Amino acid sequence: MTELLFRADAYATDFEATVLAAEPGKVVLDRTLFYPEGGGQPGDTGALTLPDGRELKVGDARKGAQPDEVVHLLADATQLLTAGTRLKGSIDWQRRHRLMRMHTCLHLLSAVIVAPVTGGAVGDGYGRLDFDLPESPERDEVQEKLNALIRQDAPVSFRWISDAELDAQPELVKTLSVQPPRGHGQVRLVEVAGIDLQPCGGTHVRRIGEIGEVLISKVEKKGKQNRRVRLEFPAST
Ligand SMILES: [Zn+2]
Repeated sequence: MTELLFRADAYATDFEATVLAAEPGKVVLDRTLFYPEGGGQPGDTGALTLPDGRELKVGDARKGAQPDEVVHLLADATQLLTAGTRLKGSIDWQRRHRLMRMHTCLHLLSAVIVAPVTGGAVGDGYGRLDFDLPESPERDEVQEKLNALIRQDAPVSFRWISDAELDAQPELVKTLSVQPPRGHGQVRLVEVAGIDLQPCGGTHVRRIGEIGEVLISKVEKKGKQNRRVRLEFPAST
């Protein structure tokens, strides 16, 4: 099992860890800041530095077979580490911060468009949500409302509730396709003060003003009951 350091502090960039298991090109550590792909958010990239100073690039991070296990995928697929090795890790913070901004922005979008969310994805500088909606939302109106929310600069906070408490409040779960992770007995609720509350295991900005201006690049019809809303950051941000 890997201690998920990004859960406690989404802004930390560097950490120390010990290799628990390894095979060529893959490493499991006892603790990590690398977010593993999940909930529509891509895995982090970055580097691991060995005691002799060698730096190994991490091209992706995925969930392992065990609960809370993170598998770091090395860019050099032949590289093999030894269990017990102490190393330093660092994530590509510029990329992660853009992912956090877009991920948090999708929470706001789900508050602007009030309809069940059937899917979603976050990319570097762009993102999308699919809504169970018979009519297309008006692009300019959604963009305006979304940016007005962002300018409110509301704080984002977390709290944990039990699976049973979540079951008692099914209205908290907006996503039909991505159910919150179960099995630990606890689910993390993410609250954007006064705007949105839902279970989520991803990484978020502290205040929504950090998201900055966003553009709705497209509203697509994907089937009779499905509308896909695509977002992007302006090129310079
Ligand atoms: Zn989230």
